[in-house]
Amino acid sequence: MSDIKVHAVNRNMYGVNSYLITSDNEAMIIDTPFDPFDTKAYDSLLLLSGAEVKYIIYTHGHYDHIGGSDTARLHYKNAKHIAHELEVEYFTDASLNLSGLFGENITLTKPDATFKDNDTFTLGSHTFKVIHTPGHSKGGVCFYTEGHLFSGDTIFSMGVGRTDFKGSNTEDLEKSIKEKIFTLPNETLIYAGHGEYGTTLKQRKSFGI
Ligand SMILES: [Zn+2]
Ligand SMILES: [Zn+2]
Repeated sequence: MSDIKVHAVNRNMYGVNSYLITSDNEAMIIDTPFDPFDTKAYDSLLLLSGAEVKYIIYTHGHYDHIGGSDTARLHYKNAKHIAHELEVEYFTDASLNLSGLFGENITLTKPDATFKDNDTFTLGSHTFKVIHTPGHSKGGVCFYTEGHLFSGDTIFSMGVGRTDFKGSNTEDLEKSIKEKIFTLPNETLIYAGHGEYGTTLKQRKSFGI
């Protein structure tokens, strides 16, 4: 079985890491930063791999991570958009997705389907698990496949997501990290929603919460 390939596409003024993942001839995009959503950056990688985008999935619904979703929807017509069930309303509520705070008022098409905790899905020959990690936002999730964790804004290579937003909760975030992230295998690589990526969980744990 060939390993998944992970490409980071760093976008927008907030420095969001979006990831294009391929396994065999299937691809998925994690988060769609706006400003604008640059399909070219993904298309050149897709051309090299010959893979087609099957899913566009969201770690959470803050506008810096979802703002490009309608552009992505038009460009990758066969892709299914999926977010956690508690995060759907972020797509249509500019105050929840925080764009209202920054005077942008971004509202978007709702996802085509929803995830809940422990759901699994396949990409090529690999299975991914949805880990619900509330705290930074109500329906925030991480995606796990053996050796890789896509952690959104739940946890970064040094630090954790902010909990001073509407829908955030500090205790929930600590519980999510302690019980659901720090219990994964130590050699897991963390691909965070901002900043550095590729840190091992073992390194990250030594930094604490
Ligand atoms: Zn966020
Ligand atoms: Zn973010």
